Amino acid sequence: MRTPIGTAYREFHRRSLEDRDAFWAEQARLVDWHAPFASVCDASRSPFLNWFAGGMTNLCHNAVDRHLAARGAQPALIHVSTETGSERTWTYTELHAEVQRMAAVLLALGVGQGDRVLIYMPMIPEAAFAMLACARIGAIHSVVFGGFASVSLANRIDDAEPKVVVSADAGSRAGKVLAYKPLLDEAIARAAHKPARVLLVDRGLAPMTMVAGRDELHAAWREQHLETVVPCTWVDSTHPSYTLYTSGTTGRPKGVQRDTGGYAVALAASMKHIFCAPQEGAQRSPAGETFFSTSDIGWVVGHSYIVYGPLIAGMATIMYEGLPIRPDAAIWWRLVEQYKVTAMFTAPTAIRVLKKQDPKFLRQHDLSSLRALFLAGEPLDEPTATWIGEAIGKPIIDNYWQTESGWPILTIANGIEQAASKLGSPGVPMYGYDVKIIDESTGRDIETPNTKGVVVIEGPTPPGFMQTVWRDDARFVETYWKSIPGRTVYNTFDWGIRDADGYFFILGRTDDVINVAGHRLGTREIEESISSHPNVAEVAVVGVGDALKGQVAMAFVVARDASALGEAPARLRLEGDIMKTVDTQLGALARPSRVFFVNALPKTRSGKLLRRAIQAICEHRDPGDLTTIEDPTALQGVRDAIGAT
Ligand code: ATP
Ligand code: MG
Repeated sequence: MRTPIGTAYREFHRRSLEDRDAFWAEQARLVDWHAPFASVCDASRSPFLNWFAGGMTNLCHNAVDRHLAARGAQPALIHVSTETGSERTWTYTELHAEVQRMAAVLLALGVGQGDRVLIYMPMIPEAAFAMLACARIGAIHSVVFGGFASVSLANRIDDAEPKVVVSADAGSRAGKVLAYKPLLDEAIARAAHKPARVLLVDRGLAPMTMVAGRDELHAAWREQHLETVVPCTWVDSTHPSYTLYTSGTTGRPKGVQRDTGGYAVALAASMKHIFCAPQEGAQRSPAGETFFSTSDIGWVVGHSYIVYGPLIAGMATIMYEGLPIRPDAAIWWRLVEQYKVTAMFTAPTAIRVLKKQDPKFLRQHDLSSLRALFLAGEPLDEPTATWIGEAIGKPIIDNYWQTESGWPILTIANGIEQAASKLGSPGVPMYGYDVKIIDESTGRDIETPNTKGVVVIEGPTPPGFMQTVWRDDARFVETYWKSIPGRTVYNTFDWGIRDADGYFFILGRTDDVINVAGHRLGTREIEESISSHPNVAEVAVVGVGDALKGQVAMAFVVARDASALGEAPARLRLEGDIMKTVDTQLGALARPSRVFFVNALPKTRSGKLLRRAIQAICEHRDPGDLTTIEDPTALQGVRDAIGAT
């Protein structure tokens, strides 16, 4: 039995904070620098940090080119689609060629250093080529999750102002084709900013209407650039590599902006110390092994641990389009066996889906190559953790982080020293992170073990952490660094506790975001969409615990014209109508599972919606402190609405 965190890791962590520059200069040797950095951590404009300023590097070089000499013939990208039945491997040499072709096309379409390229794509290899091609030429990519519909996409187009959009005819889910092009066209029509060109990959899944002078077919342009050589553009370490939007509780997406050099170092270090550690203190490199993250390139896990992290480490990475249960629930384990996956990364929600399947699927394949299964994105409940741990007989390693951090904040760094995971806890603060629990109202540190507070990070934050909110430095400071009275600390907006051994437990979020089957949705965004329906006066959306999906959205609506809603069929019609509105604006993922009609919404005296109280009622819990409620009968209305069904 492994023991709790030992002295070797404690010392490693202490050094990362107390001897910061020396510590990270050492980690920086894990990546290539075209020109050395002048300083390690420049915190003179804190909380804005410059990591490795003056150092010239390139993310694509570190992910692809630098491996060519030693492992050009080794697999780099393994793409598997159980939607279209395709399965193909690109070696590092082949990946290098494809990325150059894509880079050449982007250059030909007018993309230059610092220009934004919005990538709205399904899980196809061209999406990875496009990301790496942007990095290669110093363009800033902004990947938008393919499940988003036109309003969400239009918002992100307006914020990122891309010169070029890279997209495809369609995605596919459970065998059902989802046409992207009409959604993209509608988004561009809605957006104030108009991208100059749109590059389209035609998978032959859905017809496309091309806009003359704007839309271009990827295959034709690629043909023109089969042999074009595009060298890596050396950029300063602080040059932005990408922006990625969070789900956004305010309704307006936050564009998390990430640098280049700090990110490369953070990922390289995390692959070594956290994700690919065979034994403690192992100096062996995971190069040549296979990493399998089941996330989507539209999320931060996809950026860090489908595309950049594994490639920076010289590994093969699996990019998977499809469901975990199609053609059957053995598909992921088949991939583990076939490609000798050594580390796998998924979300608890996927495991809950697998748990409902026949356990025989877990025993059909040889999983001996697999060393550990990493889970992140939402709280890992004990039954799920125990079930999967026993079913596959491998360590289950929870890890807690955010789009903002780019890599784990809390987990176990088994590469430094093996330690036991505790059920229900993602682990301890990672090197570089000074994580604290503080009292939200007084801003004081909470030292007493097992006492609930807000999880915050004392600056400076480590490499890889967000640089700022894209084009909104003020928002970065106000939102993240000034929310606690009297303190300048980074607020994670999550509640947590720390036990006597130093392990953290996450108790939920302090803001209002719901998590449907691993996809994060801002309640505010759904509310805004529902509000656009002509017969909706007011709406509150809450996330309600669901055994399978983690959470589902439930909407409470005050209708403008309630006179027609006395009859059940009329209510059902309006409910269906509202769901359709959300489907077309945000996508089916955001659709509330139920829409209830009430006369009034419970609010505080200051007019703030009491979402937590509504949520408590939906989950049959005590609604808690209601001293600030304006009209207590509104709560009864919520109870009645749920009870009436
Ligand atoms: P927004 O910031 O726009 O509200 P979001 O917070 O939902 O979006 P992400 O950055 O993808 O988007 O999610 C990070 C959050 O997910 C964390 O703050 C935490 O609430 C939750 N989370 C992630 N990993 C874990 C984990 N291992 N255990 C518990 N919670 C987790
Ligand atoms: Mg968040």
